[in-house]
Amino acid sequence: MDFLKRYRLPLKRKCRLEEWDANDSAGVKNREQAERQTAKNIAAMRALEYRLYAENRQALLIVLQGMDAAGKDGAIRHVMAALNPQSCKVTSFKQPSALELSHDFLWRIHRVAPATGEIGIFNRSHYEDVLVVRVHDLVPRGVWSRRYDQINRFEQHLAENGTRIIKCFLYIDKEEQKQRLLRRLEDPARHWKITEADARERERWDDYVAAYEEALSRCNTKAAPWFIVPANRKWYRNLVLSQIVRKTLTDMKPQLPKPVANLDQILIT
Ligand code: ATP
Ligand code: MG
Repeated sequence: MDFLKRYRLPLKRKCRLEEWDANDSAGVKNREQAERQTAKNIAAMRALEYRLYAENRQALLIVLQGMDAAGKDGAIRHVMAALNPQSCKVTSFKQPSALELSHDFLWRIHRVAPATGEIGIFNRSHYEDVLVVRVHDLVPRGVWSRRYDQINRFEQHLAENGTRIIKCFLYIDKEEQKQRLLRRLEDPARHWKITEADARERERWDDYVAAYEEALSRCNTKAAPWFIVPANRKWYRNLVLSQIVRKTLTDMKPQLPKPVANLDQILIT
């Protein structure tokens, strides 16, 4: 199964989420099979990451977005945790600080973009500035509506300077979100995760769908493609995500650098 092809939003196509299936688990027999393949993908990612770090010439940026409770944290815990903390950095974007708000919206993003040799994972991202900001009118329409092109130019700029970008929308449906929020209410170990805001945001589900559809449609470029990852089943989400990251790293062909000196002349005493 070519997950990249299957879940890549085709270029220049308007994204309609109802055409995608959050429950999809194509080509996989069962959870055990998926978990075995995920483990293999993660092992391959580690080997490729090692080469990327040693090569020190290109960077990989993975943007994770999704509705509340879509599983961004879980995806990072299960798929990315095995990577090397020296070369893999996760940044979670919360509400901007006063300092961040006094700059342009991409300022806080660019500062933490991955350096050469690194893998950067964004848990939420600059897309919040056309999602939550749009849904809640945090800035006038005239301001956020210009951001799609600004984002495309920014991502193009990163890409031209050696950063490979993949963007994954973890897609859960409305019913699955309900079940997950209910679980947070019931399970004391998850109480810290839920606030009144989650219930309020859920009421704006349709507004978020519209905002996501526009962001995914307008910011889907060759330099920074969107993938729509079916995320109702966590094990399938992990499989698809690990496969996309593995294939992308493979495609980047990171090379171990040539030895810096004539090895014959190095005498270890
Ligand atoms: P979880 O899904 O586990 O609840 P989370 O990512 O929602 O994790 P929170 O601390 O609950 O983490 O929420 C962070 C909040 O910050 C989100 O509601 C998000 O929409 C908001 N946020 C992020 N970026 C911006 C931004 N640029 N402007 C306004 N709000 C933002
Ligand atoms: Mg939250």
